[in-house]
Amino acid sequence: IPHLQIKNLRAKIEDKEILKGMNLEIKGGEVHAIMGPNGTGKSTLASTLMGHPKFEVTEGEVLINGEDLLDMAVDERARAGLFLAMQYPSEVSGVTNSDFLRSAINARRGEGNEISLMKFIREMDKKMSTLEMDESFSHRYLNEGFSGGEKKRNEILQMMMIEPSICILDEIDSGLDIDALKVVANGVNEMRTADRGFLIITHYQRLLNYIKPDFVHVMMQGRIVKSGGPELAERLEAEGYDWIKEELGIED
Ligand code: ADP
Ligand code: MG
Ligand code: MG
Repeated sequence: IPHLQIKNLRAKIEDKEILKGMNLEIKGGEVHAIMGPNGTGKSTLASTLMGHPKFEVTEGEVLINGEDLLDMAVDERARAGLFLAMQYPSEVSGVTNSDFLRSAINARRGEGNEISLMKFIREMDKKMSTLEMDESFSHRYLNEGFSGGEKKRNEILQMMMIEPSICILDEIDSGLDIDALKVVANGVNEMRTADRGFLIITHYQRLLNYIKPDFVHVMMQGRIVKSGGPELAERLEAEGYDWIKEELGIED
């Protein structure tokens, strides 16, 4: 069973400390949601876990299946089963969606275990139809000219094709209308199994009506300040974040 352990993680960007002692543990079969105000470090956490070079870890440790994640190169993290659906996916000209996906899948599977072209095409067709994506998207350059919602669907397509064991979804709901949100949530729910764990980062409770989390964490000022079940997300939706700030004596 996959296992991600984040222990007292601190990270900074350009001398500004953003993550200030993050603790979180995710196991296969679990869906964790992180909610929090804008600018609190949610995307920084996601990028730091994936190994983005902009962020410098100053303290703490992260283990994936007992192994030191922070010691791994970006591609090794992917091979270890970690995946990030990004809040702002980048556009890559000259690389088609399907070429990108095939190399990502093969990087995960490793040498000598590459997916056959037939199987790849079959899987891609199936998953694109689940996500209600037009087949033209497979031949277009990665995210180039995609709308915000199309980029989000494409991130989920990548996740469904790569079949990671720990999936981080950063604000996958932003820019999606309600129909697209349901389609994306279906794709995620289809992937919920005992051997896969999820971290769903979201600003709004709405997404969690469609992807039911087991645990909800509130992140403020670079750390988790409160954890609970789905009822915590509902209270945040109804009352905002102020009551937590008061409870904890946090100033803006
Ligand atoms: P969230 O995802 O919770 O909205 P972020 O992780 O995106 O928050 O940002 C946390 C803090 O880090 C913010 O104060 C933001 O301005 C800062 N930050 C993020 N990226 C950069 C960057 N490239 N350069 C400088 N500061 C940054
Ligand atoms: Mg933000
Ligand atoms: Mg963010």
